[in-house]
Amino acid sequence: MEREPFPLLPPDPPGRRLDPDRLDLKGMEETELAAFCGELGEPPYRGRQLFAWIYGRGECAFERMTDLSKEFRRKLSERARVGFLAPARSEEAGDGTRKYAWELAGGARVESVKIPMPRAEGPARWAFCLSTQAGCAMGCAFCLTGRMGLVRDLSAGEIAEQFLAARRGLGPEERFHNIVFMGMGEPLENFGPSAAAARILSHPRAGGVSARRLTVSTVGVASRLAEFARAVPGVGLAVSLHAADDATRGRLVPVNRKWGLDALLRACRELPLPERRRVTFEYVLLQGVNDAPGDARRLAARLRGIRCKVNLLPWNPFPGAPFERPSPERVEAFRRELVRAGLTATVRQSKGLPIRAACGQLADDERLAGRARKAPAPVSARG
Ligand code: SF4
Repeated sequence: MEREPFPLLPPDPPGRRLDPDRLDLKGMEETELAAFCGELGEPPYRGRQLFAWIYGRGECAFERMTDLSKEFRRKLSERARVGFLAPARSEEAGDGTRKYAWELAGGARVESVKIPMPRAEGPARWAFCLSTQAGCAMGCAFCLTGRMGLVRDLSAGEIAEQFLAARRGLGPEERFHNIVFMGMGEPLENFGPSAAAARILSHPRAGGVSARRLTVSTVGVASRLAEFARAVPGVGLAVSLHAADDATRGRLVPVNRKWGLDALLRACRELPLPERRRVTFEYVLLQGVNDAPGDARRLAARLRGIRCKVNLLPWNPFPGAPFERPSPERVEAFRRELVRAGLTATVRQSKGLPIRAACGQLADDERLAGRARKAPAPVSARG
């Protein structure tokens, strides 16, 4: 294991083995904390104070919450705890991208990624990509996480703590500018905890990242899109399309058999989007599968009338996958075709490739090694 260059655990963590009988406050929202304070005979504003300590400052030890009375801290210690994650591994790529693996209770591991944002001068700005499940049940053909299958859902506290822990390692002037729920898992399949974590992290007294700069990515759980937008007002939504026809998409994204493109795009059109917000459509480009100019034209036709932008992701390779990454020229030709049709289209730069930290490359290696590694059949463009 590479030496961790900065502390990710809270200072003097209050016991690495957390008492499971005590209520974990990490993951509770402000109203829930206020209700719990009421149970302890304290006024509701104590909930606001606890919220600011737990998420604003990332504190895990009640004894250091110094503006709370000693008596209140004693009551808290008897009944509750503030959970945190144990860092299992951390690696940095040459481009500054850092990947973390976290050990969860029960032995599962999840990964998250800190990504440098381009900046001409001034202190570093980062984006943070976190996981909502250990593994994933959706089985997308181009994604290493999908090979793991689903190990388990994460709690709201486990989701939020990935960010809070990484924030502990930032220098005094450094900031996280964006949070994306695009790591391991399908957030809408772990709806309640993902929504709660998104509300917590985008709260003005918590993560320092507004809902406008928090994006939740879904592979296309059409039936719950609008519900999620209502559950986390103002949140950015990214919908993974990856193909402009059901036959190709069905082979890449099995969930397409349940919610085909018509149903998914209808749900996108009906989203209660705030003014000036757009849906982001993600599109992984796979050479010879979905990256022809004709695919771009079909995609543009499908998206007509939806307030959106398209984010193109040249596929990030992993061993045993039956795909190839298209050349930069082919990617650019695809993008130009979309722009010609009147769409806003960008190409996401792959960061952290050498440490397998880019999109679709996150996985728990041990769990993966334990599963039968059956390489899926090659996916061709037209069946
Ligand atoms: S792309 Fe997302 S939804 Fe699909 S298998 Fe990977 S993690 Fe799951």
